[in-house]
Amino acid sequence: MSKLIIHDVMNDSIELLFQQHGVRPTAVRILIWRTLSNLDYAFALSDLEGLLPTVDRSTLFRALSLFEKKDLLQTVDDGSGQQKYCLHRNQHVHLSCTVCGKTVCLEHETIPAVEVPEGFEVRHITYILQGVCKACSRKRGK
Ligand SMILES: [Zn+2]
Ligand SMILES: [Zn+2]
Repeated sequence: MSKLIIHDVMNDSIELLFQQHGVRPTAVRILIWRTLSNLDYAFALSDLEGLLPTVDRSTLFRALSLFEKKDLLQTVDDGSGQQKYCLHRNQHVHLSCTVCGKTVCLEHETIPAVEVPEGFEVRHITYILQGVCKACSRKRGK
């Protein structure tokens, strides 16, 4: 019973967030948002497909595009060639593993301020540190 109440409160807050961003809260969009908002890494469409096998690919794609357009998600170009997304909470730093291709969000690391020449309008910032993650460097041995 208590679980049910928590569930409802969570859905309410998602609906509120959607409203603030002009997204109509359909059941499938809420389901998708609940899933992706728990991820601490930049995900591709294929990652979501694995997590939500009951939702078809075009529905997932349309939801991601909508969330991006409404500033709920930001796109991350991590050099993997895959379109990736993560939550648009703030501009943050990403760590990308060049072995497994996983890109982790460092939400509390903010991007250093950069002074750009007058007249240049910044539209998108990608700040990525590339390297080898712990799991991959362990696998490789010393
Ligand atoms: Zn790795
Ligand atoms: Zn991120």
